Amino acid sequence: MTFQNTLDFARQLDAQDELKEYRNEFIFPQHNGKNVVYFTGNSLGLQPKRTKKYVDDIMNDWANLAVEGHFYAEKPWWDYQERFAQPLSKIVGAKPTEVTVMNTLTVNLHLLMVSFYKPEVKRYKIICEEKAFPSDQYMFQSQVKFHGYDPKDAIVEIKRREGEHNIRLEDIVAKINEVGDELALVLFGGVNYYTGQVFDMKAITEAGHKAGAIVGFDLAHAAGNIELKLNEWNVDFAAWCSYKYMNSGPGNASGCFVHEKHHYADLNRFAGWWGHNKERRFKMEPDFDPVHGADGWQVSNLPVLSLAPYLASAEMFAEVGMEKLIKKRDQITSYLEFILHEIDSQIPGTEFEIITPENQEERACQLSVFLHGQGRSLFDYLMSNGVITDWREPNVIRLAPVPFYTSYEDMYNFGQILKEGILNASR
Ligand SMILES: *Cc1c(COP(=O)(O)O)cnc(C)c1O
Repeated sequence: MTFQNTLDFARQLDAQDELKEYRNEFIFPQHNGKNVVYFTGNSLGLQPKRTKKYVDDIMNDWANLAVEGHFYAEKPWWDYQERFAQPLSKIVGAKPTEVTVMNTLTVNLHLLMVSFYKPEVKRYKIICEEKAFPSDQYMFQSQVKFHGYDPKDAIVEIKRREGEHNIRLEDIVAKINEVGDELALVLFGGVNYYTGQVFDMKAITEAGHKAGAIVGFDLAHAAGNIELKLNEWNVDFAAWCSYKYMNSGPGNASGCFVHEKHHYADLNRFAGWWGHNKERRFKMEPDFDPVHGADGWQVSNLPVLSLAPYLASAEMFAEVGMEKLIKKRDQITSYLEFILHEIDSQIPGTEFEIITPENQEERACQLSVFLHGQGRSLFDYLMSNGVITDWREPNVIRLAPVPFYTSYEDMYNFGQILKEGILNASR
């Protein structure tokens, strides 16, 4: 499609958008009486209007039923997480028994590493991406130290080549082969938070398994953003937060995947009563008998007030399906890219270098843009004019035109504000 940077053209794309009704399902912060242009759904997704009812239901059940809500609420609390099995398994390409919701992301990755990072005398190394999200880096360091190894030796980061912004698949595979029989675990992001690069999880999993390692993924920026086939790809385990693309609200519950091949395995785990055999949970038996499925990794009583907004959102995703979201995602991201280049080509000395991969297979919703010739003042201008984005050192803004609620007109308006911001500053 040939794009045009005009209001008419943007509105025409909106009129054809099969998800356009969903924009009205979300609550936008206001700027001068208008919806902001929201580019940070990769950090905290907007609130769906239907979420409040899910939370109110729990509050009402608690008021009316108190302890009896565990069993007699309309959606009983004691097995509330089972309502996620259908919608979430569709979103991440899993079997219903392979997914669960609990805790928060970093906590879940730690718990999963207890089961899946099993260092031995020779095989003790972890492969991860260079500049992984800080929480992941701290997690790797502390896990490795917990097992008595030196992070400098046991953690192998896959680096970008000099002058390149993204990690090449061939370099990932080569490093996996090189570490070979010293490799215990590959734990990668599905989508890099900084560049928006989508990693080839199928190929990474294959390579990791060939080397005899376990392979897991941190899907914080992938869940609700890209197509996932965790079961088919044979991924061992994964976890994701729900507050980014999945719109569940600040700090809310995380999702986990454990491949069915591990459901009957005798693995280490940090157990608690919520992972115990469901029929016998309240018999208060002394010996732990885990549920054979991802639910077997549950530890505590469910945080139902945190799960309720996530359920509202998971059901919305299942209702729409990833296919439509991905189709719009690709088009609106391309439109944004087009607008960025329209604008920088008109302004001498300014170059918006998109460090996210150009090819559609390696990128999803996010464009990370290096603002050559501009600085933090441009970011501040955007923020004070109703464009919500974020800034990362040294000079990068990340723009995520989330397909669920972002319009093509937003992209046009953003372009106009961006241009004004640059021209105003040089005046
Ligand atoms: C957002 C994000 C996290 C956040 O972890 P929490 O435990 O939810 O605070 C972790 N890892 C990655 C890759 C992220 O993008």
